[in-house]
Amino acid sequence: MNKTFFEALKEFMLEEFRDQQDLEPWGYYETIVQQQDKISPIINDYEDYEMKFSFNRTEDYDSQYYNPGQINISLYKKLEGEGGDWERYWERRVDHHYVINFLIEERYWGYCQCSPEDEGYNYGRRCCGNGCDWVAPQINISMHTDLAYGSFKGVERDMWKLAEEWSGVTEGNEAKKKEEELKYYDDQIRYWEEQRSKYIEDNK
Ligand SMILES: [Zn+2]
Repeated sequence: MNKTFFEALKEFMLEEFRDQQDLEPWGYYETIVQQQDKISPIINDYEDYEMKFSFNRTEDYDSQYYNPGQINISLYKKLEGEGGDWERYWERRVDHHYVINFLIEERYWGYCQCSPEDEGYNYGRRCCGNGCDWVAPQINISMHTDLAYGSFKGVERDMWKLAEEWSGVTEGNEAKKKEEELKYYDDQIRYWEEQRSKYIEDNK
């Protein structure tokens, strides 16, 4: 049986957050499910394309607290039949992708003064879990259109020319070119002198 988008997402989150339980993946997953009416484009794309999830954890401490990371959802055209060109997978990329940002909402509902008599009191957590200060998961899901996705059109030599141009050395800078050519010959002289000495040494 084919997986649904939510099954695939849950599978990814279980695997990805195995060692990052501080992110409370269950809370984020459920918050995403609660928005399912608004994310039909993603759910439909899951049927039409090959979907890949990846998670970026925010390294910066401040943003780690308020925005601990994001799930990136990229899409690829499905391969026709068996095999296919896996190497150049980027050529199968679809022109849009999605980002699920993990955010938080601080709910200042009051300093906890719960007691066992309160409804729903949890002895382990020493709180009834309703009406006290807490931090709730919040998400932001966005769709991004890629205007372009491509690799450099040209050979490596073209790249060298660009490097020269960017460093201010243009075709017209003859002095610099001459200097580089002379350095090349100097390097060659040094190299062959070393080879010559080595040859004499080895054949004594
Ligand atoms: Zn409480």
